[in-house]
Amino acid sequence: DTAALRAQDAAHHLHPFTDTQSLNASGTRIIVRGAGVRIWDSDGHEIIDGMSGLWCVNLGYGRQDLVDAATRQMQTLPFYNAFFKTTTVPAIELASLLTEIAPPGFQHVFFTNSGSEGNDTIIRLVRRYWDLMGQPRRKTIISRRNAYHGSTLGGASLGGMSGMHAQGDLPIPGIVHIDQPYQLQHGHAGESAEHFGLRAASWLEAKIRELGPENVAAFIGEPVQGAGGVIIPPASYWPEIQRICDHYGILLVSDEVICGFGRLGHWFGCQHPHIGTRPDLITFAKGVTSGYLPLGGVLVGERIAKVLIERGGEFQHGFTYSGHPTCCAVAVANVQAMRREGVIERVAQDLAPYLATAFGTLADHPLVGDVQSLGMVAGLVLYKDKASRTLFDAELGVGYRCRDHCFQNGVVMRAVEERMIIAPPLVMTHEDIDEMVRRIRRSLDDTWAGLRADG
Ligand code: PLP
Repeated sequence: DTAALRAQDAAHHLHPFTDTQSLNASGTRIIVRGAGVRIWDSDGHEIIDGMSGLWCVNLGYGRQDLVDAATRQMQTLPFYNAFFKTTTVPAIELASLLTEIAPPGFQHVFFTNSGSEGNDTIIRLVRRYWDLMGQPRRKTIISRRNAYHGSTLGGASLGGMSGMHAQGDLPIPGIVHIDQPYQLQHGHAGESAEHFGLRAASWLEAKIRELGPENVAAFIGEPVQGAGGVIIPPASYWPEIQRICDHYGILLVSDEVICGFGRLGHWFGCQHPHIGTRPDLITFAKGVTSGYLPLGGVLVGERIAKVLIERGGEFQHGFTYSGHPTCCAVAVANVQAMRREGVIERVAQDLAPYLATAFGTLADHPLVGDVQSLGMVAGLVLYKDKASRTLFDAELGVGYRCRDHCFQNGVVMRAVEERMIIAPPLVMTHEDIDEMVRRIRRSLDDTWAGLRADG
């Protein structure tokens, strides 16, 4: 009974990132089932999941092999820890499998439960590294405004969401932010994308000089900023960031919580030629298990791992569930399935170009401009007036209206201010993509009609 469940939910469940007052007014959509790239709500409404859950269900719903891996492990040994000089077979298998698929130079993994904990681990690891290197002043980590790196105190501090900072006296000391490479916001009139990318990267160098390189520990960024609105930087941006980090000897951290595990058509987003970085540390989560169970972690490059292991003694950090055997067993099955089924190659060679073309057709819609995609993430901008590139007043909530129409029309699409974004499962067929784009177009039409009716 949907109404009764909604009432119970509103009475007891504080949802993440949700205005509870608005829930009381309109109730939640209760998702009850998933199969392939589709989900169903408690009213039997079928919806194409254009967001892979929350950027995580990379292999889609209803995978019996992942269920079997979890069941087998739970029956054998549901849990054991890695604290007492002990470990489990799935944790061993996953650590070595991840180093096989990682870029060259990664031989070690630290496990967490989530991306947020992964990024907290990053803060502790980089500071520990510089302490052990005899450079304890190198504490400051540079991140970017509008980045999302999680919700723990460390993750939210690394993140650059001003609303989150305002609600908790954040960031914690030693974390500073530069602007994101978002040309719509920061570009100059007539500036080429290449020039803008270099200029955006130069903000890192300016910040390092301002702080003094001897005080800077690391720079962290997502290859493509996801929750910030699928901000795809110009191709000139990341190579220049890499050059600057190399020049000043600063660690480069790639937050691959979204971009990892095939999202950009490579195991890790930094391997995409458009990105092309050589990070020292990689945060992962989400797609490592296709979201079937919670698991995250940090891939630790040898430059850091060697120092930690040879000089560090005990690293006083860890979680009860670091290397949880059931989560690891699901991750092993997930990575093996991706390999066996050639998912990464199919994204790179077939799905990503197909999505780019199909999603690109939306550019002719009167509301839509700046349609972009990389791998299996895509975004567009909703314009009040395309010709003059005038955006809607934020108070109108046009993105949220469009998102609600999308739900009505059977597709999940996320609204981030002026941007509408998708990150569909990596197992879509061409027909799924076509149908998703048709439903998005219908939703744009409904949004357009609603705005005209409102005058
Ligand atoms: N980093 C990035 C880039 C993310 O997108 C997210 C979550 O969306 C996180 C970190 C935090 O991950 P989690 O929600 O698993 O803590």
